[in-house]
Amino acid sequence: MPDRILRAMDMPTQDHRGPGFAALGLRALEGIKTIFKCAGPVIIYPSSGTGAWEAALVNALSPGDKCVMVETGHFASLWANLAKKFDLVPEVIETDWRRGADANLLEDRLRRDAGHEIKAVCVVHNETSTGCTSQIAEIRKAIDAASHPALLMVDTISGLASADFRFDEWGVDVAISGSQKGLMLPPGLSFNAVSEKAIGASEASTTAKSYWAWGEMIAANKTGYFPYTPGTNMLYGLVEAIHMLHEEGLDNVFARHRRHGEATRRAVRTWGLEVQCEVAEEYSPVLTAVRVPDGHNADELRSVILKNFDMSLGNGLSKVQGKLFRIGHLGDFNDLMLAATLSGIEMGLDLAEVPHQSGGVACALDYLKSTAGKTEHAAAAE
Ligand code: PLP
Repeated sequence: MPDRILRAMDMPTQDHRGPGFAALGLRALEGIKTIFKCAGPVIIYPSSGTGAWEAALVNALSPGDKCVMVETGHFASLWANLAKKFDLVPEVIETDWRRGADANLLEDRLRRDAGHEIKAVCVVHNETSTGCTSQIAEIRKAIDAASHPALLMVDTISGLASADFRFDEWGVDVAISGSQKGLMLPPGLSFNAVSEKAIGASEASTTAKSYWAWGEMIAANKTGYFPYTPGTNMLYGLVEAIHMLHEEGLDNVFARHRRHGEATRRAVRTWGLEVQCEVAEEYSPVLTAVRVPDGHNADELRSVILKNFDMSLGNGLSKVQGKLFRIGHLGDFNDLMLAATLSGIEMGLDLAEVPHQSGGVACALDYLKSTAGKTEHAAAAE
């Protein structure tokens, strides 16, 4: 989290119903649209990402509605479980957790739904548990090719502001995000970007809701206010984060993340380890999940690295627990931070006696050196 953002939040808490608040509210509400790349409203909740998941489902859908959800990993599976709790009927397309959602499979499923019983297609843009992305533009094309009216709902909780995302251009109906990833803020804000079509669906929805209701939020937000207490100080941080992202330029931010992903994968391959994601077009620019060889436990490696180098790596979740560890390279992150991260892992692999070849860090450094200051070039080369 950049100091600049922490300092921006270090303000007296304003009266959120007072006359001065609207200016802050409008700056945050208008600014976040430039990150989602949407012209319509973005709802800001004082909650973690799970709240925004729930909000998307309870506003746009009604009990008994069918939705197709692609289980690209742990987070996609949690979202499907949440849907069941609201009496939605998710049809889960399973994967091996080593790729994104398959647009062809989705198109085929939608073509077979002649009666248009499926009300939504739900996918995770960047599956944080596996380091695989889904190609949202391709999924939009699949829905259109099947001439199907289902809403496209996208969890971009760990994608937004790190991986390219274009709400309007890609025809997304509901996008869900959170503050604590690419936006470089603490946890505590979450978002629903919503299309006209999704708002229409919400007006017909019969699911009980109050806190998450889009209608009251959108009405109050028009003047920069909120129907209940917003995360006031987080909004100062959000406005600063949006400034920082535009100062760097969103395309440069995305290219920086892709370049760090590439450097990380070069290190991993030199070590002789396997990247969890098997599809090059779907490599996550946000994080890289690395499989440890059979007979070794990724959690033991993680604990050796934590104990010796005070570096906490992401663990394998549910189905892949112990099988992989995750290297985050997102947000306020630069070449030397990545160099330190990879060094900690290479030393940890030695100490934990995980079979590997040395030289991964050197290989990543060579790549960083040869592409230094050329993020656009590096991105194009990818
Ligand atoms: N979806 C994805 C892709 C996530 O990475 C996360 C959290 O990491 C969530 C949903 C859940 O969000 P939260 O933990 O903020 O409630």
